[in-house]
Amino acid sequence: MSSQLAARSIDHVVLERGEIANTWRTERWESLTLLTPNWQSRLPGFGYEGGDPHGFRTMPETIAFLERYAKTVLPPLRTHCAVTSVRRSAVGYEVVTAQATWHCKAVVLATGAFNIAQVPALAQSVPPRIAQLTSAEYRNPGCLEQGGVMVVGAAASGAQIADEIHRSGRPVTLAVGEHVRAPRTYRGRDIQWWMDATGLNDERYDQVENLRRARSLSSFQIAGYPDRRDIDLNALTSLGVKLVGRLAGIQDGKAQLSGSLRNLCELADLKQNRLLNTFDEWAAKNGVNGAVDPPHRPEATRVEASPPLGLDFGRAGIRTVLWATGFRPDYSWLDVAVLDPKGNIRHDGGVVTEAPGLYVMGLPFLRRRKSSLIDGAGDDARDLSAHLAAHLGARSDGVGAAVADA
Ligand SMILES: Cc1cc2nc3c(=O)[nH]c(=O)nc-3n(C[C@H](O)[C@H](O)[C@H](O)COP(=O)(O)OP(=O)(O)OC[C@H]3O[C@@H](n4cnc5c(N)ncnc54)[C@H](O)[C@@H]3O)c2cc1C
Repeated sequence: MSSQLAARSIDHVVLERGEIANTWRTERWESLTLLTPNWQSRLPGFGYEGGDPHGFRTMPETIAFLERYAKTVLPPLRTHCAVTSVRRSAVGYEVVTAQATWHCKAVVLATGAFNIAQVPALAQSVPPRIAQLTSAEYRNPGCLEQGGVMVVGAAASGAQIADEIHRSGRPVTLAVGEHVRAPRTYRGRDIQWWMDATGLNDERYDQVENLRRARSLSSFQIAGYPDRRDIDLNALTSLGVKLVGRLAGIQDGKAQLSGSLRNLCELADLKQNRLLNTFDEWAAKNGVNGAVDPPHRPEATRVEASPPLGLDFGRAGIRTVLWATGFRPDYSWLDVAVLDPKGNIRHDGGVVTEAPGLYVMGLPFLRRRKSSLIDGAGDDARDLSAHLAAHLGARSDGVGAAVADA
């Protein structure tokens, strides 16, 4: 956004509470690699130029990539400058930080979608002798006690962490809710190659059938490992991970598990096959069949006939519960009445129509399916900066826009 505002000669400042790439430095586990291939980490005018376009960046490589981009764009950046309040003012908005207060006509909230771990209320009933942590707090298996671990949530984070912890010798029980299954590689090409080539990643928010649902879907159950292996539920059970249903309640030290595991897995298989059908149809229509391997379908998810409906934490030897149950944004510092009852910002493709001059970026399916990916920032910033420029009008009087982070 800063590079787009600069290109439009709009005076602005970028306020960041930590350092450049702060979330990648402070909120991710050590072994995490991006699940988007190197070629796909594209920022405007800044693509991948290394020798491994199909590889996956480690966290230090991701931080270095964003630092290099910042050196190219040279945003007017204030680091260690947490925004503590944004409220309406006579000019437009007053943005308060510990360092200074800014007055501006427009504010872009680029503070991320994954600020607060969403831990269900039933966490309070986990027996006190069992340690609890979230995927944002997890760093490596060595920081966990010896003994069994229940990982709750089987999207990308939960599946990757379950894989890593189980391999460390701590037996993992994975509580599985609704999840989005996808193969890392299909017909010899990366899943993200298919998502990009078919235009699915570019699908717009005003074209999708059920936007609310599209915005709430969890991430693909994939990882960016050098061996490109799958981490779907079949891969995890082959390792020895025990699958149980969604954690529905906890009473007297016992987990109550939903009986929906088989149904949820069948649904995830069905949806995966629908996605692969879409790829096949696109390949046939666009003359790509000769350039890729023949179509195939992954084995259906293997689930035991009667998964348990209850589990005694003590008897099962579980010493840690790890919550990989998703995140929500933190707008505790936003003093403008634009949040819905769930705390999400009401917006139309990033334009907060109830508060002219207020914009938001980086949320799931904000304007496109790829909006919450690094790759989505460029197109969204281009669209939103055009709207912002129109809002400011032709005048540029030194109080253009403040960008809370970037
Ligand atoms: C576990 C995990 C894995 C992911 N893997 C991938 C991947 O492989 N590929 C991919 O493209 N995307 C991935 N993502 C999504 C990724 O987070 C986004 O692509 C990208 O980080 C979005 O950038 P952003 O700048 O919008 O948000 P963020 O990276 O979240 O940055 C928000 C910034 O705002 C700052 N901030 C927050 N509040 C304030 C405040 N009050 N005042 C000042 N500053 C503030 C934060 O310090 C932070 O630096 C992953 C996300 C998670 C959680």
